[in-house]
Amino acid sequence: MTQPMILAHGGAGAPNEHSDGPQHAAELGIKVLRDGQIDAALRAVIESAVALEDDERFNAGTGANCRLDGSIQMDAILATSDGRIGCVAGISRVRNPIRVARLVMDSPHVMLCGEGATQFAHHRGIPDEIPMTEKAQNRLAAALERLKTGEVRPTEQKWRGRDMHGTIGAVARAEDGSFAVSCSTGGTSMMLPGRVGDSPIFGAGTMCGEHGAVCATGDGEEIIRRLCSMRVYVRLAEGADPQQACDDEVAAFPAPYTLGLIAVSRDGHGMAATDDKMARGMTGG
Ligand code: ASP
Repeated sequence: MTQPMILAHGGAGAPNEHSDGPQHAAELGIKVLRDGQIDAALRAVIESAVALEDDERFNAGTGANCRLDGSIQMDAILATSDGRIGCVAGISRVRNPIRVARLVMDSPHVMLCGEGATQFAHHRGIPDEIPMTEKAQNRLAAALERLKTGEVRPTEQKWRGRDMHGTIGAVARAEDGSFAVSCSTGGTSMMLPGRVGDSPIFGAGTMCGEHGAVCATGDGEEIIRRLCSMRVYVRLAEGADPQQACDDEVAAFPAPYTLGLIAVSRDGHGMAATDDKMARGMTGG
C-alpha cells in the first residue's frame, strides 16, 4: 500500500506567514485520502482547493483579483492520473470554480470558458454569486493607479503593469498509488477581461499522470511559454527527486518573473518558489 500524501500552496508571493491556510487545507485533504474510498486523491485535492478558495487571503474564489474592468473571472482545473481532466477559464459568478471543474470533468468536454462556463455552472445548480471582496477592489484601485502614474513593478513593464499572486493548488497521492491535482485562481491583478493564465492549461499550470502530480503558480504567461509543470513531470518520469526537479525549474525561471511549484511522485515530494516566497502546507508521506 502507498503512503498517502498531500501538498497545498497559497500562491507564489503569498506570504509564508499565511502557510496556516494551505496547511489546514492539506490536513482536510489527508482525512479524505485516509478514508480509502474510491477517487480519494481527486476528492482530497477538491476538499483542499475549496478550503483555500473560501479563504479570502488567497487569490482564488473568494479573494480573487478583479480584472481591469472591475469584473471577476477565474480559472480552475482538476486532473487525475487516470486521464480525467476538467477545467474552466474566465468563469464568473460562482464561489468555487473548482466545483465547476469537477462537473466539467464528467461532461463530454475538457474545458469550458467565459459565459458558457458560468451558464453551465448555474444550470448544474451552482449558486449565482460574485465572490467580490473589499481587498480585491483595493488591489484593483492600486493597480489602476500604477498604470496611471507609470510607476510599475519590474514584472509590469509590458503594461507597464502587474501585481500580486495568490493562486491556490494541491497535489495528492492516494493509498492506491493514484494522483490528482487541483488549481484555482483569480489570475493576476493587472489583466484584461478574457485573459487566461497558465492555471487551467494542462501541462503549463498543472500536470498529472502515472508518475505524479505537479502544480505551478506565478507569472502565468511565462509559465505557459515554458510548460513548467510538464517539464517537472518529465523529470519525475525520468526518476528525478521531486525536490530537485522543482528547485531546478525555479532556478531556470527568467527574472524578474516568479514561479512556485509543488509536486508529489510515487516516493517523494517537492516544493520550491522564487525567493522561497509561497504559502505552503503538506501532510502524510
Ligand atoms: N499563475 C496565475 C496566473 O497567471 C497567477 C498566480 O499563480 O498567482 O493566472
